[in-house]
Amino acid sequence: MENIFIIVVLLVVFFFFVQKRLIKTETYKDCKYKRKGALLNSQETAFLNALKTAVGEHGVVLAKVNMANVIAPVATNKKQWFVANSKIAKSYFDFLICDPRSLEPRVAIELDNGKELDKGKMERQKLLMHVCKSSNVPLIGASIKHSYQVGRLRRLLAAHIDLIEPDKEVRFCKKCGSPMVIKIASQGEFKGRRFFTCSRQPQCTYTENYNVVFDEPEPENPNPNQIDWS
Ligand SMILES: [Zn+2]
Repeated sequence: MENIFIIVVLLVVFFFFVQKRLIKTETYKDCKYKRKGALLNSQETAFLNALKTAVGEHGVVLAKVNMANVIAPVATNKKQWFVANSKIAKSYFDFLICDPRSLEPRVAIELDNGKELDKGKMERQKLLMHVCKSSNVPLIGASIKHSYQVGRLRRLLAAHIDLIEPDKEVRFCKKCGSPMVIKIASQGEFKGRRFFTCSRQPQCTYTENYNVVFDEPEPENPNPNQIDWS
């Protein structure tokens, strides 16, 4: 019995010294690093380029954006904040499209790598769906392909960024037939976004989403890329 006690004491003393030594040597000088290489793999890079082409000047495409840079916990106490923050601190959005002027995030895109749905992948999808729903950040799911149709990507993004030039489109009110004018929302969820409104305002209050009409023919299977996140 006494022997066991001595061994335990020795072990405790040993670990105490090891730990102390480790803490002591914890300076930048002893921390070495190496580059990890390309930020994105070739498939992700191809998708990034397709996104950039689809978005053009109407948005800034960022890759691997840390979630904590985009969203913040809404908590009533410190513990709640830390728990909520720890869930997003190490996660990132695959791609984020921001307003080109204000850099405000418009839509997050998750690129499915086509691998089997395992525990890790499932957890990530759960987290993504929850944080995006909770923080009101729109989320689009896309899957890896050999080629991307820019038109199709544009359709996916159309609800979230303004992809049409104002002078290229004339719309008429569906209620009264008057020409419509483009205004910028000054408040609400779509603040800063353009929308069409009837020129006969306030007599006619008809308004329309800025991105509705596209010239490209509909694909046989509309939006096969879009994952139903609901
Ligand atoms: Zn009208």
